[in-house]
Amino acid sequence: MSEATTSKAAGENEPFGTVALIGIGLIGSSLSHAMRRGGLARRITGHARTTATRATALKLGLVDDVFESPGDAVRDADLVILCVPVGAYAAVVREIAGDLKAGAILTDVGSVKGSVVRDVAPHLPAGIHFVPGHPIAGTENSGPESGFAELFDNRWCILTPTKASAPDAVERLAQFWRGLGSDVETMTPEHHDMVLAITSHLPHLIAFNIVNSARHLEEVTDREVIKFSAGGFRDFTRIAASDPVMWRDVFLNNKEAVLEMLGRFSEDLTDLQRAIRFGDGDKLQHLFTEARGVRKSIIDIGQDTAAPDFGRHPKADGGKAE
Ligand code: NAP
Repeated sequence: MSEATTSKAAGENEPFGTVALIGIGLIGSSLSHAMRRGGLARRITGHARTTATRATALKLGLVDDVFESPGDAVRDADLVILCVPVGAYAAVVREIAGDLKAGAILTDVGSVKGSVVRDVAPHLPAGIHFVPGHPIAGTENSGPESGFAELFDNRWCILTPTKASAPDAVERLAQFWRGLGSDVETMTPEHHDMVLAITSHLPHLIAFNIVNSARHLEEVTDREVIKFSAGGFRDFTRIAASDPVMWRDVFLNNKEAVLEMLGRFSEDLTDLQRAIRFGDGDKLQHLFTEARGVRKSIIDIGQDTAAPDFGRHPKADGGKAE
Protein backbone atom coordinates (compact mmCIF):
# COMPACT_ATOMS: atom_id res chain seq x y z
CA MET A 1 0.00 0.00 0.00
CA SER A 2 3.07 2.23 -0.14
CA GLU A 3 1.73 4.02 -3.23
CA ALA A 4 -1.25 5.26 -1.28
CA THR A 5 -1.47 8.48 0.66
CA THR A 6 -3.74 8.88 3.64
CA SER A 7 -5.78 12.04 3.89
CA LYS A 8 -6.70 12.84 7.46
CA ALA A 9 -7.11 16.61 7.56
CA ALA A 10 -10.31 17.57 9.30
CA GLY A 11 -12.46 20.35 7.95
CA GLU A 12 -15.85 21.90 8.23
CA ASN A 13 -18.26 20.15 5.92
CA GLU A 14 -20.05 22.89 4.05
CA PRO A 15 -22.99 20.98 2.52
CA PHE A 16 -23.26 20.57 -1.22
CA GLY A 17 -26.24 22.41 -2.74
CA THR A 18 -27.60 19.47 -4.76
CA VAL A 19 -26.21 15.94 -4.84
CA ALA A 20 -27.43 13.59 -7.60
CA LEU A 21 -27.44 9.83 -7.02
CA ILE A 22 -27.38 7.91 -10.27
CA GLY A 23 -28.49 4.48 -9.08
CA ILE A 24 -30.36 4.07 -5.79
CA GLY A 25 -29.49 0.59 -4.58
CA LEU A 26 -27.54 -0.47 -1.50
CA ILE A 27 -24.78 2.10 -1.96
CA GLY A 28 -26.94 4.93 -3.32
CA SER A 29 -29.49 4.59 -0.52
CA SER A 30 -26.77 4.30 2.14
CA LEU A 31 -25.19 7.48 0.77
CA SER A 32 -28.54 9.22 1.10
CA HIS A 33 -29.00 8.10 4.73
CA ALA A 34 -25.43 9.09 5.62
CA MET A 35 -25.72 12.46 3.84
CA ARG A 36 -28.94 13.22 5.72
CA ARG A 37 -27.31 12.20 9.01
CA GLY A 38 -24.27 14.39 8.38
CA GLY A 39 -26.15 17.32 6.82
CA LEU A 40 -23.94 17.03 3.75
CA ALA A 41 -26.48 17.98 1.06
CA ARG A 42 -29.23 20.58 0.95
CA ARG A 43 -31.09 18.61 -1.72
CA ILE A 44 -30.73 15.07 -3.05
CA THR A 45 -31.93 14.13 -6.51
CA GLY A 46 -31.90 10.62 -7.90
CA HIS A 47 -32.30 8.42 -10.92
CA ALA A 48 -32.97 4.70 -11.07
CA ARG A 49 -33.79 2.51 -14.02
CA THR A 50 -37.11 1.10 -12.86
CA THR A 51 -40.32 2.81 -11.77
CA ALA A 52 -40.39 0.56 -8.70
CA THR A 53 -37.00 1.75 -7.40
CA ARG A 54 -37.83 5.38 -8.12
CA ALA A 55 -41.12 5.06 -6.20
CA THR A 56 -39.40 3.35 -3.25
CA ALA A 57 -36.70 6.03 -3.16
CA LEU A 58 -39.34 8.75 -2.89
CA LYS A 59 -41.41 6.80 -0.36
CA LEU A 60 -38.38 6.28 1.90
CA GLY A 61 -37.32 9.92 1.55
CA LEU A 62 -33.98 8.90 0.06
CA VAL A 63 -34.34 11.64 -2.56
CA ASP A 64 -36.15 14.96 -2.67
CA ASP A 65 -36.81 14.54 -6.38
CA VAL A 66 -36.50 11.50 -8.59
CA PHE A 67 -36.16 11.44 -12.38
CA GLU A 68 -36.70 8.87 -15.07
CA SER A 69 -33.92 10.48 -17.10
CA PRO A 70 -30.44 10.60 -15.51
CA GLY A 71 -29.80 13.87 -17.35
CA ASP A 72 -32.66 15.55 -15.50
CA ALA A 73 -31.32 14.26 -12.18
CA VAL A 74 -27.86 15.82 -12.67
CA ARG A 75 -28.88 19.14 -14.22
CA ASP A 76 -28.56 21.26 -11.03
CA ALA A 77 -26.17 19.00 -9.16
CA ASP A 78 -22.90 20.23 -7.64
CA LEU A 79 -21.92 16.63 -6.89
CA VAL A 80 -22.95 13.65 -9.04
CA ILE A 81 -22.32 10.13 -7.72
CA LEU A 82 -22.58 7.14 -10.06
CA CYS A 83 -23.96 4.20 -8.04
CA VAL A 84 -24.81 1.73 -10.81
CA PRO A 85 -22.90 -1.44 -11.80
CA VAL A 86 -19.63 -0.46 -13.52
CA GLY A 87 -20.68 -2.11 -16.78
CA ALA A 88 -23.45 0.50 -17.10
CA TYR A 89 -21.15 3.53 -16.68
CA ALA A 90 -20.34 4.26 -20.33
CA ALA A 91 -23.99 4.39 -21.37
CA VAL A 92 -25.05 6.43 -18.34
CA VAL A 93 -22.23 8.96 -18.75
CA ARG A 94 -22.99 9.40 -22.45
CA GLU A 95 -26.53 10.23 -21.39
CA ILE A 96 -25.68 12.76 -18.66
CA ALA A 97 -22.57 14.42 -20.14
CA GLY A 98 -24.47 17.26 -21.83
CA ASP A 99 -26.53 18.01 -18.71
CA LEU A 100 -23.73 18.25 -16.14
CA LYS A 101 -23.45 21.66 -14.50
CA ALA A 102 -20.20 23.55 -15.14
CA GLY A 103 -17.86 23.13 -12.16
CA ALA A 104 -19.66 20.03 -10.84
CA ILE A 105 -17.72 17.17 -9.25
CA LEU A 106 -18.47 13.80 -10.81
CA THR A 107 -17.52 10.75 -8.77
CA ASP A 108 -18.57 7.12 -8.44
CA VAL A 109 -18.52 4.19 -6.03
CA GLY A 110 -17.58 1.41 -8.46
CA SER A 111 -15.56 -1.57 -7.27
CA VAL A 112 -13.11 -1.29 -10.20
CA LYS A 113 -11.27 1.92 -11.06
CA GLY A 114 -9.16 1.49 -14.23
CA SER A 115 -12.18 0.71 -16.41
CA VAL A 116 -14.11 3.59 -14.87
CA VAL A 117 -11.46 6.09 -15.95
CA ARG A 118 -11.49 4.47 -19.39
CA ASP A 119 -15.29 4.54 -19.71
CA VAL A 120 -16.08 7.92 -18.16
CA ALA A 121 -13.28 10.42 -18.81
CA PRO A 122 -13.54 10.58 -22.63
CA HIS A 123 -17.22 11.60 -22.52
CA LEU A 124 -16.84 14.53 -20.11
CA PRO A 125 -16.99 18.14 -21.23
CA ALA A 126 -14.37 20.61 -19.98
CA GLY A 127 -15.11 22.15 -16.59
CA ILE A 128 -16.31 18.93 -14.92
CA HIS A 129 -14.13 17.64 -12.06
CA PHE A 130 -13.94 13.87 -12.34
CA VAL A 131 -12.64 12.10 -9.20
CA PRO A 132 -13.30 8.34 -9.14
CA GLY A 133 -13.92 6.72 -5.75
CA HIS A 134 -14.67 3.42 -4.05
CA PRO A 135 -16.02 2.91 -0.53
CA ILE A 136 -14.66 -0.34 0.92
CA ALA A 137 -17.99 -1.07 2.56
CA GLY A 138 -21.00 -3.13 1.64
CA THR A 139 -23.30 -6.02 2.37
CA GLU A 140 -24.64 -8.87 0.30
CA ASN A 141 -28.01 -7.08 0.04
CA SER A 142 -29.20 -4.95 -2.86
CA GLY A 143 -31.82 -2.36 -3.65
CA PRO A 144 -33.06 0.92 -2.17
CA GLU A 145 -34.39 -0.66 1.02
CA SER A 146 -31.09 -2.27 1.97
CA GLY A 147 -29.16 0.93 2.75
CA PHE A 148 -28.34 2.37 6.17
CA ALA A 149 -26.52 5.45 7.45
CA GLU A 150 -23.72 3.61 9.27
CA LEU A 151 -22.49 1.62 6.27
CA PHE A 152 -19.45 3.83 5.69
CA ASP A 153 -18.54 4.46 9.34
CA ASN A 154 -14.90 3.66 10.05
CA ARG A 155 -14.48 2.14 6.59
CA TRP A 156 -11.99 3.24 3.99
CA CYS A 157 -12.97 5.18 0.95
CA ILE A 158 -10.34 5.06 -1.77
CA LEU A 159 -10.15 7.97 -4.19
CA THR A 160 -8.25 7.45 -7.44
CA PRO A 161 -7.80 10.93 -8.92
CA THR A 162 -6.62 11.15 -12.51
CA LYS A 163 -3.96 13.58 -13.73
CA ALA A 164 -6.81 15.89 -14.73
CA SER A 165 -8.45 15.92 -11.27
CA ALA A 166 -8.09 19.35 -9.63
CA PRO A 167 -6.61 19.05 -6.11
CA ASP A 168 -9.39 21.27 -4.69
CA ALA A 169 -12.05 18.91 -6.05
CA VAL A 170 -10.21 15.88 -4.63
CA GLU A 171 -9.99 17.52 -1.19
CA ARG A 172 -13.65 18.58 -1.30
CA LEU A 173 -14.67 15.01 -2.06
CA ALA A 174 -12.36 13.62 0.63
CA GLN A 175 -14.04 15.97 3.12
CA PHE A 176 -17.44 14.72 1.96
CA TRP A 177 -16.41 11.11 2.59
CA ARG A 178 -15.06 11.98 6.02
CA GLY A 179 -18.45 13.55 6.71
CA LEU A 180 -20.03 10.21 5.74
CA GLY A 181 -17.93 8.54 8.45
CA SER A 182 -15.07 7.15 6.36
CA ASP A 183 -11.31 7.46 6.34
CA VAL A 184 -9.94 8.46 2.97
CA GLU A 185 -6.93 7.24 0.99
CA THR A 186 -5.83 8.16 -2.49
CA MET A 187 -4.00 5.89 -4.90
CA THR A 188 -3.76 5.25 -8.63
CA PRO A 189 -6.56 3.32 -10.35
CA GLU A 190 -4.07 0.58 -11.28
CA HIS A 191 -2.89 0.14 -7.70
CA HIS A 192 -6.49 0.09 -6.48
CA ASP A 193 -7.43 -2.63 -8.95
CA MET A 194 -4.46 -4.80 -7.97
CA VAL A 195 -5.10 -4.46 -4.22
CA LEU A 196 -8.84 -5.08 -4.54
CA ALA A 197 -8.28 -8.05 -6.84
CA ILE A 198 -6.70 -9.96 -3.94
CA THR A 199 -8.65 -8.51 -1.01
CA SER A 200 -12.13 -8.51 -2.52
CA HIS A 201 -12.51 -9.82 -6.05
CA LEU A 202 -10.70 -13.14 -5.61
CA PRO A 203 -12.46 -13.97 -2.31
CA HIS A 204 -15.78 -13.45 -4.04
CA LEU A 205 -14.72 -15.63 -6.97
CA ILE A 206 -13.68 -18.37 -4.55
CA ALA A 207 -17.00 -18.08 -2.70
CA PHE A 208 -19.05 -18.29 -5.91
CA ASN A 209 -16.98 -21.28 -6.96
CA ILE A 210 -17.02 -23.26 -3.72
CA VAL A 211 -20.78 -22.79 -3.31
CA ASN A 212 -21.37 -23.97 -6.87
CA SER A 213 -18.96 -26.92 -6.43
CA ALA A 214 -20.95 -28.05 -3.38
CA ARG A 215 -24.19 -27.57 -5.28
CA HIS A 216 -22.90 -29.72 -8.12
CA LEU A 217 -21.82 -32.60 -5.93
CA GLU A 218 -24.36 -35.29 -6.73
CA GLU A 219 -23.87 -37.20 -3.50
CA VAL A 220 -24.45 -34.10 -1.34
CA THR A 221 -28.08 -33.13 -1.37
CA ASP A 222 -29.10 -29.50 -1.00
CA ARG A 223 -30.55 -30.45 2.33
CA GLU A 224 -27.21 -31.71 3.63
CA VAL A 225 -25.42 -28.61 2.42
CA ILE A 226 -27.85 -26.45 4.34
CA LYS A 227 -27.94 -28.77 7.34
CA PHE A 228 -24.17 -28.74 7.88
CA SER A 229 -23.62 -25.14 6.88
CA ALA A 230 -22.72 -23.94 10.38
CA GLY A 231 -19.04 -24.29 9.47
CA GLY A 232 -16.90 -22.35 7.01
CA PHE A 233 -19.32 -23.06 4.16
CA ARG A 234 -21.95 -20.78 5.67
CA ASP A 235 -19.69 -17.73 5.41
CA PHE A 236 -18.98 -18.56 1.80
CA THR A 237 -22.71 -18.73 1.02
CA ARG A 238 -23.16 -15.26 2.48
CA ILE A 239 -20.48 -13.85 0.22
CA ALA A 240 -21.85 -15.81 -2.75
CA ALA A 241 -25.28 -14.22 -2.19
CA SER A 242 -23.88 -10.93 -3.51
CA ASP A 243 -25.44 -9.30 -6.55
CA PRO A 244 -24.63 -11.32 -9.71
CA VAL A 245 -24.73 -8.33 -12.09
CA MET A 246 -22.42 -6.21 -9.96
CA TRP A 247 -19.93 -9.07 -9.70
CA ARG A 248 -20.15 -10.02 -13.38
CA ASP A 249 -19.16 -6.44 -14.16
CA VAL A 250 -16.30 -6.48 -11.64
CA PHE A 251 -14.70 -9.53 -13.25
CA LEU A 252 -15.26 -8.29 -16.80
CA ASN A 253 -13.61 -4.98 -15.88
CA ASN A 254 -10.70 -6.07 -13.68
CA LYS A 255 -9.64 -8.98 -15.81
CA GLU A 256 -5.85 -8.64 -15.77
CA ALA A 257 -5.40 -8.04 -12.04
CA VAL A 258 -7.83 -10.84 -11.15
CA LEU A 259 -6.09 -13.31 -13.49
CA GLU A 260 -2.71 -12.35 -12.02
CA MET A 261 -3.96 -12.93 -8.46
CA LEU A 262 -5.73 -16.12 -9.48
CA GLY A 263 -2.40 -17.41 -10.85
CA ARG A 264 -0.65 -16.72 -7.54
CA PHE A 265 -3.53 -18.25 -5.61
CA SER A 266 -3.37 -21.42 -7.72
CA GLU A 267 0.36 -21.77 -7.08
CA ASP A 268 -0.19 -21.45 -3.32
CA LEU A 269 -3.07 -23.91 -3.48
CA THR A 270 -0.86 -26.42 -5.28
CA ASP A 271 1.67 -25.99 -2.49
CA LEU A 272 -1.01 -26.86 0.09
CA GLN A 273 -2.17 -29.78 -2.04
CA ARG A 274 1.37 -31.19 -2.08
CA ALA A 275 1.73 -30.74 1.68
CA ILE A 276 -1.48 -32.71 2.22
CA ARG A 277 -0.49 -35.39 -0.29
CA PHE A 278 2.95 -35.91 1.31
CA GLY A 279 1.73 -35.58 4.90
CA ASP A 280 3.85 -32.48 5.53
CA GLY A 281 2.20 -31.46 8.81
CA ASP A 282 4.89 -28.90 9.68
CA LYS A 283 4.26 -27.03 6.48
CA LEU A 284 0.49 -27.07 6.94
CA GLN A 285 0.78 -25.86 10.51
CA HIS A 286 3.23 -23.12 9.54
CA LEU A 287 1.01 -21.82 6.71
CA PHE A 288 -2.15 -21.92 8.83
CA THR A 289 -0.38 -20.08 11.68
CA GLU A 290 0.72 -17.34 9.29
CA ALA A 291 -2.83 -17.03 7.93
CA ARG A 292 -4.26 -16.82 11.44
CA GLY A 293 -1.96 -13.86 12.13
CA VAL A 294 -3.59 -11.91 9.30
CA ARG A 295 -6.98 -12.19 11.02
CA LYS A 296 -5.45 -10.79 14.22
CA SER A 297 -3.97 -7.84 12.31
CA ILE A 298 -7.39 -6.98 10.82
CA ILE A 299 -8.96 -7.00 14.28
CA ASP A 300 -6.06 -4.99 15.73
CA ILE A 301 -6.61 -2.17 13.20
CA GLY A 302 -10.36 -2.12 13.94
CA GLN A 303 -11.61 -3.40 10.58
CA ASP A 304 -13.50 -6.27 12.24
CA THR A 305 -14.21 -7.60 15.73
CA ALA A 306 -13.28 -10.85 17.39
CA ALA A 307 -16.88 -11.41 18.54
CA PRO A 308 -18.57 -14.68 17.54
CA ASP A 309 -19.89 -14.67 13.95
CA PHE A 310 -17.41 -11.85 13.32
CA GLY A 311 -19.66 -9.53 15.34
CA ARG A 312 -21.65 -8.56 12.30
CA HIS A 313 -24.78 -6.54 12.69
CA PRO A 314 -27.43 -8.43 10.70
CA LYS A 315 -27.60 -5.57 8.18
CA ALA A 316 -24.06 -4.34 8.31
CA ASP A 317 -20.79 -5.39 6.82
CA GLY A 318 -21.81 -8.54 5.05
CA GLY A 319 -20.44 -10.42 2.13
CA LYS A 320 -20.03 -7.76 -0.54
CA ALA A 321 -18.04 -5.81 2.01
CA GLU A 322 -15.19 -5.54 -0.48
P1 NAP B 1 -27.71 -2.37 -6.26
O1 NAP B 1 -28.17 -2.36 -4.86
O2 NAP B 1 -27.99 -3.55 -7.11
O3 NAP B 1 -28.28 -1.05 -7.00
C1 NAP B 1 -27.93 -0.75 -8.33
C2 NAP B 1 -28.66 0.49 -8.80
O4 NAP B 1 -28.23 0.73 -10.16
C3 NAP B 1 -30.17 0.38 -8.84
O5 NAP B 1 -30.74 1.64 -8.56
C4 NAP B 1 -30.46 0.00 -10.30
O6 NAP B 1 -31.71 0.49 -10.73
C5 NAP B 1 -29.36 0.75 -11.03
N1 NAP B 1 -28.97 0.07 -12.29
C6 NAP B 1 -28.62 -1.23 -12.43
N2 NAP B 1 -28.28 -1.49 -13.72
C7 NAP B 1 -28.43 -0.32 -14.39
C8 NAP B 1 -28.25 0.04 -15.75
N3 NAP B 1 -27.83 -0.84 -16.67
N4 NAP B 1 -28.50 1.34 -16.08
C9 NAP B 1 -28.93 2.23 -15.17
N5 NAP B 1 -29.12 1.93 -13.86
C10 NAP B 1 -28.87 0.67 -13.48
O7 NAP B 1 -26.13 -2.15 -6.35
P2 NAP B 1 -25.09 -1.58 -5.29
O8 NAP B 1 -24.67 -2.70 -4.40
O9 NAP B 1 -25.62 -0.32 -4.70
O10 NAP B 1 -23.83 -1.29 -6.23
C11 NAP B 1 -23.72 -0.10 -6.96
C12 NAP B 1 -22.26 0.18 -7.26
O11 NAP B 1 -21.55 0.23 -6.03
C13 NAP B 1 -21.57 -0.84 -8.14
O12 NAP B 1 -20.78 -0.17 -9.09
C14 NAP B 1 -20.66 -1.59 -7.18
O13 NAP B 1 -19.48 -2.04 -7.82
C15 NAP B 1 -20.38 -0.54 -6.14
N6 NAP B 1 -20.08 -1.06 -4.80
C16 NAP B 1 -20.88 -2.01 -4.25
C17 NAP B 1 -20.61 -2.47 -2.99
C18 NAP B 1 -21.48 -3.51 -2.36
O14 NAP B 1 -21.07 -4.15 -1.40
N7 NAP B 1 -22.68 -3.70 -2.86
C19 NAP B 1 -19.55 -1.96 -2.24
C20 NAP B 1 -18.78 -0.95 -2.80
C21 NAP B 1 -19.05 -0.51 -4.08
P3 NAP B 1 -33.05 -0.40 -10.57
O15 NAP B 1 -33.17 -0.73 -9.10
O16 NAP B 1 -34.11 0.54 -11.01
O17 NAP B 1 -32.84 -1.61 -11.43
